[in-house]
Amino acid sequence: MSNAVNVRNVSFAYGDQPALEDVTLTIESGDFLGLIGPNGSGKTTLLHIILGLLSPDSGVVELFGQPVDSFDQGERIGYVSQKATDRGGTMPVTVRECVRMGRFAHVGHGRLSDEDRKIADDALETVDITDLADQQMNQLSGGQRQRAYIARALASEADLLALDEPTVGVDAESRDAFYQLLESLNESGITIILIEHDIGVVTDRADRIACINTQLYHHGDTESFVESDALSEAYGATGTVVHHHH
Ligand code: ADP
Repeated sequence: MSNAVNVRNVSFAYGDQPALEDVTLTIESGDFLGLIGPNGSGKTTLLHIILGLLSPDSGVVELFGQPVDSFDQGERIGYVSQKATDRGGTMPVTVRECVRMGRFAHVGHGRLSDEDRKIADDALETVDITDLADQQMNQLSGGQRQRAYIARALASEADLLALDEPTVGVDAESRDAFYQLLESLNESGITIILIEHDIGVVTDRADRIACINTQLYHHGDTESFVESDALSEAYGATGTVVHHHH
């Protein structure tokens, strides 16, 4: 089976300001990867390059064995951006309609079968927002909207889910439930890339960690990360506190 993501020797600069230098990493199908690093360390840039939203200055990116610039299976990728909690820019559709759109990649607009509707309804059930199905997307709380976007990705049968600080502005209790949802999706076989500023969340939930600060400081399993000096190296000597949630 091919890797979900291959990143080889990727560099990227905004003007003359380097954001990524020679980053190489592999994400295997089924991984739950936590992508961490200080503010401005290039996490979002790397994710956008992986998703093909930005082209690297040099290096290679492959999704499911295919070069990202000719990747034609977009329905396999779900992306919950940092902006997903924002009300602004939300489409004027109900939650159920939004999730049904996840089927469009498979059947084309306006041709949903009963089976497609069922798949969409099942996705709503999986993320536990069936009771919100008839609400407008812009009426949801930030955390509910995240779930709706995940349901849409599930409806499109995404097997890679990328999330950029998905719980910013979400209350602690809903956060925990949200990460439990991610874990159960991962257990069902979905590959997850999670950008997260709370290192405790990542060390608790992810089985692999990539720690970057322009360069890659660590890429490997969570245990070896915890035992390594990668955290203090990547975050500098300023003494970042590691929180553990148990
Ligand atoms: P992170 O997600 O780790 O906070 P980013 O990938 O957003 O980091 O940003 C990495 C660096 O690139 C930062 O120094 C940031 O200021 C800069 N940067 C990000 N986006 C842009 C942009 N559109 N134009 C110029 N600089 C940018």
